[in-house]
Amino acid sequence: MTAGRFAPSPSGDLHVGNLRTALLAWLFARSTGRVFLMRVEDLDRVRPGAEQRQLDDVRSLGIDWDGEIVRQSERHPVYEEAIERLTEAGRVYPCFCTRREIREAPSAPHTPPGSYPGTCRELTEAERERRAAERPAALRLRADVDEWTVDDELHGTFTGAVDDLVLRRNDGVAAYNLAVVVDDAAQGVDQVVRGDDLLTSAPRQTYLATLLGHDAPTYAHVPLAVNTAGQRLAKRDGAVTRTELEDRGIDVFALVAESLDLVGTTPAELLTSFGPQRLPSHPWTFVPPD
Ligand code: GLU
Repeated sequence: MTAGRFAPSPSGDLHVGNLRTALLAWLFARSTGRVFLMRVEDLDRVRPGAEQRQLDDVRSLGIDWDGEIVRQSERHPVYEEAIERLTEAGRVYPCFCTRREIREAPSAPHTPPGSYPGTCRELTEAERERRAAERPAALRLRADVDEWTVDDELHGTFTGAVDDLVLRRNDGVAAYNLAVVVDDAAQGVDQVVRGDDLLTSAPRQTYLATLLGHDAPTYAHVPLAVNTAGQRLAKRDGAVTRTELEDRGIDVFALVAESLDLVGTTPAELLTSFGPQRLPSHPWTFVPPD
């Protein structure tokens, strides 16, 4: 089985740009004969009711999905098993750094800004014990590359930074990058379509997948919706959610289809005019109605 997916985080309501990404993920999957899966990425801050509203919004556009919804919060043992395998391969070390320590640490030569500088990589056992008494450790990947290259259907070849990324946060919960990689592999997802703000995450995720023995998915990082100032669209930009727009008499499906230069009144009808190479390659400027 080959699959595409949409993987929203229920931290708030989806805006019309997120819905556009969901529709694109569906179109990429269905136009290539893949099943389409829905995964709720609820390891982080969850807003009560958001999951249900997000799923209702997606459904209301006529986007359907196959099988059961997968929730990351229910998959702790699967993530632990992956961490266990990496640990056995000598790929994991505990990290006691606070955010502030990381921000203030001198960066190592050749590492891009924002990369983890490796402070806890070579701590002795005695140092680890001493630090562990002070605060719980996160677990980091011992990466042996500092960049990795991926192929993207829209961006071509993209090379980006890889550092000693967090695998398990210090509250014991799996980190985003690990969960995404483990779940995509477990669910047979071999096509990842998502917003292009995540393009820079693809190299580290592919590298991690490789270490875990999984094939890399194909990627299509699609342009985001932006406000009139060219910034990423956000809730504060006004009427941007499905219900807000519908309250103002706007047909959200028609709006999104038009923004993609696609013709039809259902997702299935759009398939006729859909093709990755025909997609607008620039961000979609969305002007909220009054
Ligand atoms: N859950 C992530 C988000 O909503 C998407 C992760 C992904 O598609 O890989 O931003």
